[in-house]
Amino acid sequence: MNVLIVGGGGREHAIAWALSKSEQVEQLYCAPGNGGIAALAQCVPLSATDVDGVVAWAQAHSIDFVVVAPDDPLALGMVDALEDAGIPAFGPRADAAIIEASKIFSKNLMAKYHIPTAKYQTFTELAPALAYIEAEGAPIVVKADGLALGKGVIVAQTVAEAQEAVRSMMDGRKFGQAGARVVIEECMTGPEVTVLAFCDGEHLVPMPSSQDHKRAFDGNQGPNTGGMGAISPSPNYTPEVARRCMEEIFLPTVAALKAEGRPFQGVLYFGLMLTPDGPKVVEYNARFGDPECQAVLSLLETDLLDIFLACRNGTLDRLNIRWKDGAACCLVLASGGYPGSYAKGLPITGLEDAGQQAVVFHAGTKLGDDGTVFTNGGRVLGVTAAGADLNAAIDGAYAAVGHIHFQDMHFRTDIGRV
Ligand code: ATP
Repeated sequence: MNVLIVGGGGREHAIAWALSKSEQVEQLYCAPGNGGIAALAQCVPLSATDVDGVVAWAQAHSIDFVVVAPDDPLALGMVDALEDAGIPAFGPRADAAIIEASKIFSKNLMAKYHIPTAKYQTFTELAPALAYIEAEGAPIVVKADGLALGKGVIVAQTVAEAQEAVRSMMDGRKFGQAGARVVIEECMTGPEVTVLAFCDGEHLVPMPSSQDHKRAFDGNQGPNTGGMGAISPSPNYTPEVARRCMEEIFLPTVAALKAEGRPFQGVLYFGLMLTPDGPKVVEYNARFGDPECQAVLSLLETDLLDIFLACRNGTLDRLNIRWKDGAACCLVLASGGYPGSYAKGLPITGLEDAGQQAVVFHAGTKLGDDGTVFTNGGRVLGVTAAGADLNAAIDGAYAAVGHIHFQDMHFRTDIGRV
């Protein structure tokens, strides 16, 4: 089969890596791809959000199957457009991807189907939002309704901070239309766990749990980022927690989307908080998380294309998905200054040596004419190792990182240890 992956980050490199092991894949393409994906797939210079361009290119190049990995093209209806053009695609249609694209939709869905989550109210006007914050007190959480590159959530420690966040979203339009409506919710406490699940519209198969590390610096300090590292599985996700999540959250969510006439096919991301009252949903995403994807997929034994096709065709219940025993760890190497401003175009050394010990997924890189790899983004690489247990995986990933260098390279030294 000719397979096209849409996207160009570390997550897409991990998907390309897993798909390249499938004997069914004849030719792999990636739009736009990156410097590392180029070793596994032919990169196509199209933006991941260019819905018409991707459909036209796929038609012109006899593509048999398209994997749409990032949130934006899913929310824009890329899967709908591909399927309408007769090209089978992996990922939710826009009417199901809304579970990520609108926090108001997802909160209302959870309320309607009694899925545990933080108590909340939604607002379209500033004055009642300010009054609600005053009445509820702090800490309190303010969320822009729409997609805001992971920056639309403020966990406010004071009433003044929460009110300022609402003003900047609703009046200042800090996130454009995404902040025209807001969710204000109760602040929950407890460890956070991510569970990604394959879904075919009716059935759901959870992958091993994982845990992202969002803050830029050690000790969970500093600003939020796209994610500085991930481990899988999460030590907090015990069999008892898993059982409750399956019964109280995962199965009810898939059933709710189906009942609403929005069957979800693709990867459903459950962002969970293990609160003193039990597991609750923090957020849903409509795709693999990055960097959780890199850690989780490195434990997969089954052919990923078979799984994607089963999700697309509604036959997930007939597949036995196998995972390696043990654990995995993905360490993100970022550009100095990230998540603020940073330089691009810096040469990276040591990739080959690191590749002997771990899998080095590229996130923001560019390949030079002479084969040199240059930095080309905030998150540059995701160094991923699997091991017999979590300590072995973490040690393996850090040992591989020791070979890699680029100017002002920044990474956390405590992934999996906090
Ligand atoms: P992402 O980058 O994962 O897409 P997002 O912008 O969709 O993020 P959320 O995942 O909803 O935002 O929230 C980001 C972080 O804020 C969470 O990982 C969690 O740490 C914190 N958070 C969100 N909601 C709550 C809550 N109700 N109580 C406590 N912390 C919360």
